Amino acid sequence: MRFGRYSVEVVKCAAQVRRLCDNCKNVTDHALVDEPCGLSFGLPFSKRPLWSTHRAYGLVCPICTWAVEISKDEAQALIRKGQSQ
Ligand SMILES: [Zn+2]
Repeated sequence: MRFGRYSVEVVKCAAQVRRLCDNCKNVTDHALVDEPCGLSFGLPFSKRPLWSTHRAYGLVCPICTWAVEISKDEAQALIRKGQSQ
């Protein structure tokens, strides 16, 4: 799964969020995604970044794949909610 130049992973254990998509204007169950690299620096032969500035989280619309960034606290709350279901 790729959005723009970033590669992201859907956090399957997290709760989904029903919200209005800013892009397609549909109310959809947005999935939490995890963009592990942020602004990252790595060696060309290394697949994993050696250092990243932050771990970015976002909510992705399943219809148009528009993503909005959310804070780490919000993301962790969704993961806790998903795991408790
Ligand atoms: Zn959308």
